[in-house]
Amino acid sequence: MSAEILSGKTLAADFRADIAKETAQLIEKTGVKPGLGVILVGVDPASTSYVTAKERACDEAGIYSEDVRIPAESTEEEVLTLVEQMNNNPEIHGILVQLPLPKHIDESRIINAIAPEKDVDGFTPLNVGRMMIGETCFLPCTPHGIIQMLMKAGVETSGKHAVVVGRSNIVGKPVAQLLMRKAEGGNATVTVCHTGTKDLKAFTLQADILIVAAGRPNTVTGDMIKPGAVVIDVGVNRIPDETRPKGFRLAGDVDFESAKECASLITPVPGGVGPMTITMLLYNTLKSARRTASC
Ligand code: NAP
Repeated sequence: MSAEILSGKTLAADFRADIAKETAQLIEKTGVKPGLGVILVGVDPASTSYVTAKERACDEAGIYSEDVRIPAESTEEEVLTLVEQMNNNPEIHGILVQLPLPKHIDESRIINAIAPEKDVDGFTPLNVGRMMIGETCFLPCTPHGIIQMLMKAGVETSGKHAVVVGRSNIVGKPVAQLLMRKAEGGNATVTVCHTGTKDLKAFTLQADILIVAAGRPNTVTGDMIKPGAVVIDVGVNRIPDETRPKGFRLAGDVDFESAKECASLITPVPGGVGPMTITMLLYNTLKSARRTASC
């Protein structure tokens, strides 16, 4: 058996076309142009490339984007000042501080400074708490993108066993939370695995839906996948490869070649979860602007 490929690129293109249409309608109706403010501290190549991709996606959707790129040596106070300026800027409806931040900056202090009504990444404690209790909030982009992918692909989650590998605040925990919600795209029985899990394979083999966000290539191989499972590979790893112009290639956390022989549906890396993450960011920014325009 060879799995069907679940392309985030294709789904994201459809979503983005709708977002662009709705953005144009909002501007025409209310004069409010959605705006995203992005703060990038330092020149980490992966972060720089994400921010550039987000900027391009905003342009294509007709969303205003304001990028502030400052050196890695910038102080916590300088970053806080930028966040404050964006909190007070009526042209900015969403704020994204690209993570990770340099070690000398307290990430949680910066995230806590973002006005919850502009927290389009869904990382502030208020948003996280609201998601947890099922109140209206900005859903975090990667987990929301994953749920949207499953729904658009017609994957039934209700009653299924979903196994999540990883328990980070930005992927593992929130995606587990969304999968267990009593809502469309949820209602699954969820198991969360991490480095404290003994015998990872014993759990992954039980998964009808397997979400892997470990940040390590080959964390999951084909022999760890139940035949017919749906596999969502969140990982993005740079593997040195001198045959490539950039000197590296991207790989997920799942060994794609062996996994596709067992899974029924699998996301590729690149072109899987990544494009959906950016799309959900645009979606949240539009939602925030709509709220400002009260429509
Ligand atoms: P993270 O903060 O490093 O968390 C990784 C999690 O995986 C941790 O909870 C860790 O367990 C667990 N883990 C690591 N190795 C494991 C193993 N062998 N067995 C079981 N659990 C293991 O990473 P993250 O921020 O969640 O990101 C995960 C990956 O997704 C990264 O490659 C990242 O680049 C990628 N990512 C992609 C997107 C996208 O849009 N495509 C967005 C976000 C992240 P412990 O808690 O016990 O340490």
